[in-house]
Amino acid sequence: MSRRWLFADQLGPHFLDDPDQSVLLVESRAVFRRRRFHRAKAHLVLSALRHRAAELGDRATFVQSETYSPAVRAASDDVSVCAPTSYAARSLVGRLPVEVLPARGFATGEDEFARWAASRGGKRLLLEDFYRQARQRHDLLMDGGEPAGGRWNLDKDNREPPPRGASTLNVAEPWWPAEDDIDAEVRRDLDAWEASGEVSFVGHDCPRWAAATRAEALQVLEQFVAQRLAAFGPHEDAMLAADPWMAHSVLSAPLNLGLLDPMEVVHRAEAAYREGVAPLASVEGFVRQIIGWRDYVWNIYWHVGPGYRRRNALAARRSLPTWFTELDADAVQARCLTDVLAGVRDRGWVHHIPRLMVLGNYALQRGWDPAELTDWFHRSFVDGYDWVMLPNVVGMSQHADGGLMATKPYAAGGAYINRMSDYCGGCSYSPKKRTGDDACPYTAGYWWFLHRNRDRLEGNHRMAQPLKGLQRLSDVDDVVAQERDRGSAPP
Ligand SMILES: Cc1cc2nc3c(=O)[nH]c(=O)nc-3n(C[C@H](O)[C@H](O)[C@H](O)COP(=O)(O)OP(=O)(O)OC[C@H]3O[C@@H](n4cnc5c(N)ncnc54)[C@H](O)[C@@H]3O)c2cc1C
Ligand code: SF4
Repeated sequence: MSRRWLFADQLGPHFLDDPDQSVLLVESRAVFRRRRFHRAKAHLVLSALRHRAAELGDRATFVQSETYSPAVRAASDDVSVCAPTSYAARSLVGRLPVEVLPARGFATGEDEFARWAASRGGKRLLLEDFYRQARQRHDLLMDGGEPAGGRWNLDKDNREPPPRGASTLNVAEPWWPAEDDIDAEVRRDLDAWEASGEVSFVGHDCPRWAAATRAEALQVLEQFVAQRLAAFGPHEDAMLAADPWMAHSVLSAPLNLGLLDPMEVVHRAEAAYREGVAPLASVEGFVRQIIGWRDYVWNIYWHVGPGYRRRNALAARRSLPTWFTELDADAVQARCLTDVLAGVRDRGWVHHIPRLMVLGNYALQRGWDPAELTDWFHRSFVDGYDWVMLPNVVGMSQHADGGLMATKPYAAGGAYINRMSDYCGGCSYSPKKRTGDDACPYTAGYWWFLHRNRDRLEGNHRMAQPLKGLQRLSDVDDVVAQERDRGSAPP
């Protein structure tokens, strides 16, 4: 049997053909020199890789080197690798003397997706249709050929604002791992590299909170299913200042490190429904995220091709301001944005809605360059990888793919944030105001965005209503002038 080369996002047992297979692990320093990652992300990836090397013991050759190629070329036996997760890495393995196997770690393979896409006869590649066929193919949450409970989509039950008057969801926090000697060694190394000026990071160092080993990932999964999954659905789209985790699973990092297989995760969730531990709406909402969204995003990345990165349908060309790239949350007054940016700075993670409706929405409104923003998300989030960032940022959040991922731009004013969070009450801006010193930057920014892009969005029937609203706005010139003046200053 060949020696299996495992990238740092292929660390689970499903990347091996046999539990006794010999393994090659390479820790490349050059990766950190090329990009300025969040300190917590660098810590997590190195910790996960070194923990895996320690677990495998004599079965693993663990090489710490500048780049991958010399370590792979030096291997004395045949080497195989599961197709890695980015265009750059696939090009690298294609140039090396290794056998490249199909990718693993997803519920729908690239061939399967290509067959499904071809069968659509040119129709839109809708997430909803993709998700339904995946549920059927895997017989997940199905009862005799019909969706459990009679409905495929329970989103309507899962879009509630936060509970009135509550500052937290009152759900148990996720299970947190404890750092060990390997983490201490990682921290010493990162401190030394940074002190020598060799690499630099963004964000704050923090105790490692994301699972870095399979045992830890299983603990997070089990505790989520037993204590938190039941509450996942109803407030999935809500934000609470004092409750960053709410009922989210915090499984994206271990899933993307390859520590868990998505199918084992959804089977556990389905079992919780069948055993009466969690209601259908929460379980369906969660399964939809994993074998729906996660797999859809993965497959869209390969389906569209490397040119996705350069898409810029709304011609957004402004550079990201330094306060944003440096995660300088203290420079920001807007309560929603300061809190979310502080979350990124302090832990390299916020949940889906702050990513989409606070960070992404702000960038969209201001016309920030989608490729630069993608790079920022990739570096600043512990779960960020090329495949997941391009469709989520270029596509879903910036509408730069012209509507492939989302039928309309995710642009929203302060009224949305006010409805879905408890931020606005304590903010010096007013979500209702679009001009004046206390004009909410999201409300004013929303109209500025529509005004700037009115010609480009004209043909989109889902934008007809908002564009009509724009026409009725008597003070649109004042709003546009005000937001232009505000420029790239922190709001
Ligand atoms: C602008 C933007 C950037 C994003 N960047 C990333 C990223 O770098 N890495 C990443 O894994 N997810 C990313 N997402 C998707 C999603 O926000 C995160 O997966 C989620 O917030 C992670 O927290 P969680 O594990 O608690 O997720 P939960 O809310 O518990 O969801 C369960 C799981 O579903 C999967 N999932 C849900 N939505 C998506 C999605 N749109 N794309 C891929 N997987 C999804 C994740 O694996 C997640 O762990 C991004 C979304 C947006 C809008
Ligand atoms: S008023 Fe505007 S800036 Fe302030 S928290 Fe609400 S949405 Fe954010």
